[in-house]
Amino acid sequence: MGLDIHLFPCLSDNYGILIRDHATGLAATVDTPDSSAILAEADRLGWRLALVLNTHWHPDHAGGNQAVKDATGAEIIGPPEVTRIAPLDRPVADGDEVQLGESRLTVIQTNGHTNGHISYHAAEAGAVFVGDTLFALGCGRLFEGTAQDMWTSLGRLTALPDATQVYCAHEYTASNARFALTVDQDPTVADRCAAVFAARAQGRPTVPTTIGLEKATNPFLRAPVLAGALGSFATDAEAFGLVRAAKDGFRG
Ligand code: ZN
Ligand code: FE
Repeated sequence: MGLDIHLFPCLSDNYGILIRDHATGLAATVDTPDSSAILAEADRLGWRLALVLNTHWHPDHAGGNQAVKDATGAEIIGPPEVTRIAPLDRPVADGDEVQLGESRLTVIQTNGHTNGHISYHAAEAGAVFVGDTLFALGCGRLFEGTAQDMWTSLGRLTALPDATQVYCAHEYTASNARFALTVDQDPTVADRCAAVFAARAQGRPTVPTTIGLEKATNPFLRAPVLAGALGSFATDAEAFGLVRAAKDGFRG
C-alpha cells in the first residue's frame, strides 16, 4: 500500500505533480499546468493516467484538462468552478473521498485564492496537495475569497499532522523568503531562508515542505504574532489580512 509522488518543474514557476498507487499502478496528475509536459513525464515514467485532480479553475491548473483527457481518457475531478474554463467529469467538495486504486484522498475545502479551491489529503501517504493555498513560506493571493476565507482554509491545513508533506503548485519560495525576512526576526526563520536561497542557487526545489516547518516559519501562519508591527487587528483573520496586504505590496 502506498503512493509514489513525482514532482517536476513546468511552465515558468509551476510544479507538475504525478502520483501513482502502488497496489494497482493507477496514476493521477494533480492539476494540468502543461499538458505536453505532463503527458511526456507520465510516458517517461510508464505511468498510466486514470485521474486528473484539479485544485481550482485557474488556467495554470486546469488549462490542460482537455488535452490530458483526449490523450489518456482520464476522469477529471475537481471543484465545480473548473467548468468556467475546462471540462470536469466529477465535481467534489469538502469531505468527499477520491479513490486512486487502493489509495484514498480526502478533499479539504480551501477557498480564499479562488472560490471553490480544494486540496487533496492522502492521509496514509502523509501528503497533501494544496494548489495555490499554502506555499513554502507563503500563501496564495486573495483573488476571489476574503482574508477570513483563507485563514479558515489555512487552519484546515495546519490541523493536519506536522510531518505531512505539503505539495505546493509553485516555486515562489525565494521571493517569499525575502518577504519573510522583512516581517520576522526569528532566528529559525533566518536559518530556513538561508537554506532556501542556497537550494534555489543550486536549482533545487523547495517543495515539498511540511506542515510543521510552515507552522514554525511561514509569516502568514505566524500572522497573529507578527501583525502587530503592521497595523491593528481584532481577530487572527484580520492579522492574516495585514500580512497578506503587506506581501501584496512587497517588491523584492
Ligand atoms: Zn491560481
Ligand atoms: Fe497557480
